[in-house]
Amino acid sequence: MKAIAVFPGSREVKVIEQEDPRISEPDQVMLRMLDIGICGTDKEICTFEYGTPPPGDDHLVIGHESLAEVVAAGSAVERFQAGDLVVPSVRRPCVHPGCLACRAGHQDYCYTGDFRERGIKEAHGYMAEYIVDHEGHMNLVPPDLREIAVLTEPLTIAEKALGQISWMMQQRPPWLDPQTPGEERGRGLSALVLGIGPVGLLGAMALVSAGFTTYVYSREVPPNPRIDLVTAIGATYVSTQVTTFADLAEQVGNIDLVYEAVGHSHFALEALRVLGTNGIFVLTGVPGLQAFIEADPARLMRDMVLKNQVLLGTVNAGTEAFASALRNLGLFRRRWPEAVQTLIAGRYPPEQAAELILGRPTGIKTVIAFDASPG
Ligand code: BGC
Repeated sequence: MKAIAVFPGSREVKVIEQEDPRISEPDQVMLRMLDIGICGTDKEICTFEYGTPPPGDDHLVIGHESLAEVVAAGSAVERFQAGDLVVPSVRRPCVHPGCLACRAGHQDYCYTGDFRERGIKEAHGYMAEYIVDHEGHMNLVPPDLREIAVLTEPLTIAEKALGQISWMMQQRPPWLDPQTPGEERGRGLSALVLGIGPVGLLGAMALVSAGFTTYVYSREVPPNPRIDLVTAIGATYVSTQVTTFADLAEQVGNIDLVYEAVGHSHFALEALRVLGTNGIFVLTGVPGLQAFIEADPARLMRDMVLKNQVLLGTVNAGTEAFASALRNLGLFRRRWPEAVQTLIAGRYPPEQAAELILGRPTGIKTVIAFDASPG
């Protein structure tokens, strides 16, 4: 079968031929990979800034955002059968008996750092025709989400963050009542999304759906399909090229939540300065190598203390975040059918993966599909 792999030693990214994987344990499923999304992390891996092959291998099969079809199931598999659509999660637990997070199935909170991530860290990924994995890492996808379910994994980032902050918002102003329905959690509050990539746009959709008055701040200027999408979902787009952080803060009023989805240290620090009183700042971007910047930590600390602010880093994601991402994708499609269609830029064959990962993004989410015709 075909797979796309990165070879850090020879600095290559290429299509390789491999043996088909086989079910070797009774709780495993075999998947035919349908869609594999590409993202900034893949670009970092393919430029050799991030990512690690499995121990002893000279290459890493990439790909971690995916949608697959179950083609075979081991004798002990209970939840899945051939024909089911699934999205596999990315992180796999460490082996240390003392890691409470991994032992409880919350490897996204692994203490030791010895977790593996499929397609990223020490485990081959999903840009392959077939993969085999344990049923416990699979999330069942309703068949009517076939066209967009590859967006589940990038949406889990926002879902996990929203899960965390909802819980926090029950203890902090505006003291959210735990009975508040999901779509009213953000009512009366403003959220600022930094970045207009897929993670930012999906985050904006989740925040609008949770009732936040949502602003998206990025450097692009119209005309741009991403900006059109922001407007179509009822959020307000503001360009860094037109409006400074100070003017933005004046326009928004108290910024209750910042959802950072850029991975740029200077931009994030600037935004931290305009975070409102009792505000929560969520960092989701994993910065690559960047220039050293000057900061004024004393001022930041003073503001954070005097304004009761929270700075939260979050890496995706656990089972609950996958379940709520799948629920929300269905909701987004009902609410904004046309906007959701524009999220997938196109499906391309594996031979085009390297140029698509390394080139400039053409649309919102580019997808590799083994049966796609050349684009
Ligand atoms: C992936 C996550 C992963 C993170 C850090 C992101 O691009 O979506 O699953 O945990 O990178 O490696």
